[in-house]
Amino acid sequence: MENCIFCKIVGGHIPSTPVFENEWVYAFNDLSPVAPQHILIVTKKHIKSLATIEPSDLETLGQVQLAAQKIAVLLGVDASGFRLVSNCGSDGGQTVDHLHYHFLAGREMKWPPG
Ligand code: 5GP
Ligand code: ZN
Repeated sequence: MENCIFCKIVGGHIPSTPVFENEWVYAFNDLSPVAPQHILIVTKKHIKSLATIEPSDLETLGQVQLAAQKIAVLLGVDASGFRLVSNCGSDGGQTVDHLHYHFLAGREMKWPPG
């Protein structure tokens, strides 16, 4: 296994609070939430970021979108709304180099983000 915190979480070697899981993604509560509901959707495959995705990753990436939709229903925010964000690289604010999406809900989000 790579020395990657999210690979360790996906593998169950670091504990997390699960929200949703299927063949392609694992979703769990963020350790430091910035919204009332803050879930991380991570790909089970280790991909560094959106900067390194390949055409062969399209199924995985599409499944992330469907997972977000399912999580919204699970959390009861499908009608009120949510935000899905993937920080990429240093200017994007990425701190963990394993592709992941922040699912944020439970308050009105601001635009533009900081
Ligand atoms: P990034 O800054 O790369 O966009 O997002 C990384 C996210 O991972 C942060 O929101 C941070 O709180 C979360 N995080 C980092 N380490 C852990 C951990 O060990 N467990 C959980 N649940 N979240 C983590
Ligand atoms: Zn990884």
